[in-house]
Amino acid sequence: MNNHTSQKENATVRSLNTQLVHGGIDGDERTGAVSIPIYQTTTYRQMSLGHPGDYEYSRTGNPTREALEKLIAELEVGTHGFAFASGMAAITAVLFLFSAGDKILISNNVYGGTFRVLDKVFSRFGLNYDIVDTSSLKEVEEHLTEDVKGIFVETPANPLLTITDIRGVAKLAKNKNVLTIVDNTFMTPCLQRPITLGADIVVHSATKYLAGHSDVIAGLVVVNNVELAEKLHFIQNATGGILQPWDSWLTIRGIKTLGIRMEKHQEGARFVTSFLQENPAVRRVFYPGLTDFPGSDIHEKQANGPGAMISFILRDEYDIKRFFENTGIITLAESLGGVESLISHPASMTHASIPLFLRQKVGITDRLIRLSVGIEDKRDVVRSLTDAFSYARM
Ligand code: PLP
Repeated sequence: MNNHTSQKENATVRSLNTQLVHGGIDGDERTGAVSIPIYQTTTYRQMSLGHPGDYEYSRTGNPTREALEKLIAELEVGTHGFAFASGMAAITAVLFLFSAGDKILISNNVYGGTFRVLDKVFSRFGLNYDIVDTSSLKEVEEHLTEDVKGIFVETPANPLLTITDIRGVAKLAKNKNVLTIVDNTFMTPCLQRPITLGADIVVHSATKYLAGHSDVIAGLVVVNNVELAEKLHFIQNATGGILQPWDSWLTIRGIKTLGIRMEKHQEGARFVTSFLQENPAVRRVFYPGLTDFPGSDIHEKQANGPGAMISFILRDEYDIKRFFENTGIITLAESLGGVESLISHPASMTHASIPLFLRQKVGITDRLIRLSVGIEDKRDVVRSLTDAFSYARM
């Protein structure tokens, strides 16, 4: 594993907003450049036979990727970070930690791609999974059979924002030597740091809030100990799903403004939630910032804010197809966490790979809409929703 110390290291613990700007490897020691250079190279000169330098080959280690890996490790209060070509490549690398015959428990409304890779790929190699309502610690405990080796949690989960008690799950898992993995994409380390709550591994689709501008696909993993880090680095190098230098740099640049973006995203989301709650077109709003939202008390204890993802159910008197035809500045698209507001229909988009009976069981119905509130003027977002509702009224 790379343990390079030639760049300026960040020895002291600083506040999160400062870490976002200066964390990891801050600038370039050789030239004084304040922005980390993009080391667009595949390989590195070796001084003599059998004596490579700090870097040998960019699949194994690259200084720009390393800067991002150190930055995310610092932000998530872990020991080591790893950058991958996508969130799914990151999740896949984590799943490679397990073996045939092992079982993973997953939250019952995880991102569809997480379910799909387990259901359609890893199951062919003998890795089993069980879908569990991880918001119930009792249910988690009941499912902790001998063969369970990992629990994969999203909280708030995609798309119903279901809350899981990370501390509670991690405690149950630790007692049985089971790894707790948290997908922290919706929260980012600005709002929630699962390792400080007992999790072993954090994964991110950095495509979302971390990079933040809908222009890079990236995934990150952070672990909390050297043994896991060695295994994961071996997997990263052996399977090769690494993040490229240019995309690593873009992700670092995105992270620098994460703090102010998350504040603005949340301000907009709170405003939009109040609007939706009072709107006759809406049957139900899902948002962890609502005091009567199930699990909001737990969320408040483990996170610094409700985030900016909202889901809601459109009433029957409104045509859902027409609604999506007139959403103004809010773009109908997969993805979330960009500066622009994005809206989606989980049943036919992000969660289409989950079988109908399962979607219905957990409540991902055809009238469910998911909104990622961007950083535009919040009144314009509400105006766009108002127009969409009046256009959709039957
Ligand atoms: N995890 C969550 C919560 C997601 O929403 C997504 C993508 O939407 C992923 C993981 C997968 O990330 P990527 O699209 O970067 O592969």
